[in-house]
This record gives sequence, structure tokens and C-alpha cells, in this order.
Amino acid sequence: MGLDPVSLKVALGVVALTLCLLFFGSFRRTRSAYSGWWCLALVFLLTGNVAYLLTGTSQQIWAGPLGNALLVAGAFSVWAGSRSLRLLPTPRWQLLAGPVATTVAAALENPAANEWSGGLVYLAMMSLGMALATVELWRLKPTVSRTGRSLALAAGVLGAFFFGRGIAYVVEGPDGPDFGTYFSSATTSVVTIVLLVTVSFSMTALSNEQLINGLNERATRDGLTGLLNRVAFMELATQEINRLHSAGSVSTLILADLDHFKALNDSYGHAAGDSAIQAFAAACQASVRHTDLVGRYGGEEFTILLPGADVESAEIIASEISRRLASAKTPHGITFPTVSYGIAPSTFVDAEVVHMIAAADKALYQAKSLGRNRAVCATS
Ligand code: GH3
Ligand code: MG
Ligand code: MG
Repeated sequence: MGLDPVSLKVALGVVALTLCLLFFGSFRRTRSAYSGWWCLALVFLLTGNVAYLLTGTSQQIWAGPLGNALLVAGAFSVWAGSRSLRLLPTPRWQLLAGPVATTVAAALENPAANEWSGGLVYLAMMSLGMALATVELWRLKPTVSRTGRSLALAAGVLGAFFFGRGIAYVVEGPDGPDFGTYFSSATTSVVTIVLLVTVSFSMTALSNEQLINGLNERATRDGLTGLLNRVAFMELATQEINRLHSAGSVSTLILADLDHFKALNDSYGHAAGDSAIQAFAAACQASVRHTDLVGRYGGEEFTILLPGADVESAEIIASEISRRLASAKTPHGITFPTVSYGIAPSTFVDAEVVHMIAAADKALYQAKSLGRNRAVCATS
């Protein structure tokens, strides 16, 4: 049974139009670059196939080369969209090079009479565009998205299909038996429909995944410093302390409070106060290991959990944080405040984060009354 190429092109067009409308809606809502590029790729695919419907008519002279150029532009849009997922821009000339080369090649091979004018360059550009997209999608960090792998696979299959078409085209030409059986335009339409649906499904999954990651980030991070917020710190610290406690290991908690912070706000304004809070957060992050937890407990108070560290190590880290803050670049005319610390180990406070914070708070109170700018360890 032979597949009717024109009916399949119409079916492909209908699928592409439907997906395009759906993605345009999502692009308008999210403004995400990749749904924009994907939408554009679908528009190119759609218009390219409409142009192909004129093959065999008197309009073929322009419709053939235009159809090729539009489809290549679609493949390169998929590439640009894949790059946008890695936050990489794509220079305009790189996007235009493929379609322009395809048009020129088609114009040189008698497009009025030759249905396959510029066919080889077209097939090479399609497989190049999809291969570039495959590489970009494969390079997406698995932590960013696991969906990237299925997108890479879909792009890779389409790239390989066009590469196979190109080889068959060179070896036996567009009228050869294998080209007609395995790589005809009807087969291409079927393969493209399957991949369109796969890619669209993956794109939607990807978009949801990124939305969830973004919401998660906002729910657990403090907006001013990017540190863990109080709720997230308490949750992660509880898990970590329990884990270490059952393994027979200790952890130490530091409660830090900026000294005379209100005076800085009153003299220089809230923006100066905010910059001190941000500088303190940066000093913390530069002084701890990536396995330590740093949170903004509230206002100008911070909590740091050092898994596996004893009180002496915590004291060294506290003085390192103060040293970094003191040498940090300040906005014109202001001096960042000093910091007082209360330190509590998990050994004598029942290894519970609330108890450790209460003990560290007492020690912090002592540090303040002893003249500030110092660390005091909790006593049992
Ligand atoms: P002490 O040395 O005893 O800790 O004195 P202090 O002035 O640092 O402490 P106090 O609790 O009196 O003042 C804390 C101030 O921190 C009061 C509040 O307005 C300010 N603050 C809390 N959150 C923020 C913030 O996000 N940005 C700024 N700029 N100020 C904040
Ligand atoms: Mg305070
Ligand atoms: Mg304070």
C-alpha cells in the first residue's frame, strides 16, 4: 500500500498548526525563549509544507526553493531553542546561513522543472540543524532537566533520518528504489508527525519542570540574600542532624547577629543595611563548605549548620566570616558592622535543631553583653 504524499503533508500541516496554536498560548503566558523558538519552528514547518503543496504546478519555480528554505529555518530554530535552554544566544547570521545556502542551491538547479532542485544542500542543512540541536540538548545538565535527554533523542533521530536521506540521495538519486521506499516525502511526513508530537510533549514536560524548579527555589530561598529561608533551613538542618546523629557523628550550629545594625540603617538608610546583609551572606558562603547549610533566620540574624564539625572548627569559621566581611568592598562612606556569634554543638543539646538554636541564642546573648564582635560557645 503506497502512502499518499499530499494527504500526509496536509495531515502534517494540521498537526503542526494545532501544536503551533497550543504553544503560542503557552509562549504568551510564560514568555520562555524555548517555547517561542519552538513556536517559530512549527510556523516554518507549516509554511514550508504549504509551499511544497505547489510542487508540480507553475508556481514550483519559487515554491520549491522557498519550501526548502523554510524547513531549514525550522531546523535551525529548533537549534536556537535548544541553545536558549542553556541560556546561550544564537547570532542571527548563524540562523540565516542555512536557509540562505539552501535557497541559493535550489535556485541554481533549475527549480521550474526540477522538483528536487537544491535537494542535497537541503538534506545536508536539515541534518546539520538537527545534529546541532541534538548536541545542545544532550549537554543540558541532567539536574536541570531529565526531559532534555528525550528531546535530544528525538532531535537525533530526525537528524539521522535526514542524514540517511542525504546518503540515499547521493548514492541513487531521488528516483532510486531505497530513496522511494525508506526516505520518500511520505515517510518523512510520518516520521516528522511522530517526532513533532514527541518533542511537543517533552517541551510541555520541560516547561512544567522548570516552573516547579522556579517555584521550589522561591519557596526555599530568601529573596535578598539567596540563602535558605527559615523554614527550609529548619527542615534541612533537622534531616542533616538526625542523619549525623544516627551515624554517631556531631554537628555544630552557629547563630550570627550583626552588631548595632539598626544604627547603620538609621544613619545611612535601608539600602545600606541591605548591602551589609548581602555582604554578610556572601562572606558566609565563601567561608563554608558546600555541604554546610546557611540560612537567614530573620532580619540580620543567620543560622549556619556545620555537619561533622566541632566547636573549634566553628570558631575558626566564624572568625573567617568576620575577616571576609571586614575586608569586603563597601558602598561609598559606610563601614559594615561587626558580627557576634553563638555556637552550639549537637553533643549536649539532644541533637535537635530547636534546642541547638536556643543554646546558641543564649551564647549569642553573652557575646553581645561581653562587648560584641566575638564568638561564645554554649555551655551545658
Ligand atoms: P545588636 O548589636 O544588639 O544586635 O543591635 P542591632 O541594632 O543590630 O539589633 P536590633 O534588633 O535593635 O535591630 C535590628 C534591625 O534590623 C531592626 C530592623 O529594622 C533591621 N532589619 C531587619 N531586617 C532588615 C532588612 O531586611 N533590611 C534592612 N536594611 N534592615 C533590616
Ligand atoms: Mg538581631
Ligand atoms: Mg543585631
